Amino acid sequence: MKQPKIDPERVKFLNQEKIVSGDYLVYWMQASQRTHYNHALEYTLHRANKLEQPLIVYFGLTSDYPEANLRHYTFMLEGLQEVKKSLDKMNIELVVLNQSPELGAVEIAENASLMVTDRGYLNIERIWREYVAQKVKCPLIQVETDVVVPIETASLKEEYAAATIRRKINKQLEKFLIPLKSSSYPSIKGSLNLGLDSLPLYNMKKILNKLNINRTVESVELYKGGTKQALIHLKEFLDHKLDRFADLRNDPSQEYLSNMSPYLHYGQISPLYIALKVSDTDSPGRDAFLEELIIRRELSMNFVYNNPQYDNILCLPDWAKKTLREHENDPRPYLYSIEEFEEARTHDPYWNAAQKEMVYTGKMHGYMRMYWGKKILEWVDNPVEAYQIALYLNNKYELDGRDANGYTGVAWCFGKHDRAWKEREVFGKVRYMNDKGLKRKFKIDNYVDRVDGIIELIHEGLI
Ligand SMILES: Cc1cc2nc3c(=O)[nH]c(=O)nc-3n(C[C@H](O)[C@H](O)[C@H](O)COP(=O)(O)OP(=O)(O)OC[C@H]3O[C@@H](n4cnc5c(N)ncnc54)[C@H](O)[C@@H]3O)c2cc1C
Repeated sequence: MKQPKIDPERVKFLNQEKIVSGDYLVYWMQASQRTHYNHALEYTLHRANKLEQPLIVYFGLTSDYPEANLRHYTFMLEGLQEVKKSLDKMNIELVVLNQSPELGAVEIAENASLMVTDRGYLNIERIWREYVAQKVKCPLIQVETDVVVPIETASLKEEYAAATIRRKINKQLEKFLIPLKSSSYPSIKGSLNLGLDSLPLYNMKKILNKLNINRTVESVELYKGGTKQALIHLKEFLDHKLDRFADLRNDPSQEYLSNMSPYLHYGQISPLYIALKVSDTDSPGRDAFLEELIIRRELSMNFVYNNPQYDNILCLPDWAKKTLREHENDPRPYLYSIEEFEEARTHDPYWNAAQKEMVYTGKMHGYMRMYWGKKILEWVDNPVEAYQIALYLNNKYELDGRDANGYTGVAWCFGKHDRAWKEREVFGKVRYMNDKGLKRKFKIDNYVDRVDGIIELIHEGLI
């Protein structure tokens, strides 16, 4: 059996335990919800084959993941159903326990020789892994598979901006932008009959009914979860959109984005796989896309990993905090409550269209996200509250919300990873955006029409 090429920099021992003589190995899948191009799974398979023990994959399904609701759970479960089918074909058992992931992981590790997990960068994901590392009696090994360049290899400190991390990441690309060879099958197969109460993934409705989750936000039809769907979107992007990505990615009236973000958020597709596919082309959109997928995305991971205040205004650089404070009492041209924002009841048809796009489809156009966040800063009477409103709405409605990129995107609207601009009311030196810019650059009314058209189709049950 060939060994998959997994760079040691992706692998980190989270505790000091020695391998014990257990009955099986566990891959605790949590952030990287896929079997395709998953370094953590390949690593565990390799170790299982060497130890000649069976491998089980465990997933912890908590009902109260912060800010998650029916929309998010539905998308995630669609993906997990596919993971189950794929593991079934490999004769690997998937155990999904309805409890907080770290508790189930400790339980399942009881008779394990070794446990592997993937890597998450947000606080809760790190706390879970730290807890398990302390509690289990076998090694807990983390394999980082949701970035192209492992984040500590790229940089050991919080980076100031894309300009400062770009060089560091680019230096590593030759080493890490390499295909993952799959060893694919365990030598010892079959169910272990662990007697654990695994959720029946084939019956999603039943699971969703059983879970005690927030049901206030409906699931969406436009984006279905799972690796297959991700690959379909990717193919569509490569075949029809990548060539024009550099010119048209910012234009909200056009549809030239990859739509990879929901799939990346749940780990349903590998960023390395996407990067390799795009790198293999000589498309004029290639470099612009890789800048977003690798540099911008991995800058976000660098930010949330190194800045403990990533979910509030204190994360901003000093110049941004100072200037926003100095302009805190400036009169605002409009003031809206959180309800008015949520129900898209501002005076601005473009802002309202963006909010509706997010509420109805689960994904707002990337350029409009910037405009949307900047206007919340402008139309709330203090920046601290504006910051929290933007995060709240983003995390509630975006399929890709609650992600390092979301925390970074909101922070960017308030000055993070940016420089000081000409000083003005309310924003101070933070970069300003207005509707005149939208009208000048794009046929922005077409965006409003496009969003209205999608909503009409949704209401008619055609999407
Ligand atoms: C206020 C605000 C909120 C945001 N919230 C989120 C969020 O909750 N989740 C999320 O994934 N992204 C968020 N973004 C970043 C960006 O807008 C989305 O990643 C992008 O629009 C997703 O669509 P796509 O996959 O079709 O993008 P494409 O343009 O096709 O890009 C491909 C991939 O590159 C990465 N990428 C693109 N733009 C950025 C960016 N500006 N920063 C970091 N990575 C990027 C994403 O992983 C994306 O999937 C936010 C940005 C702002 C300004």
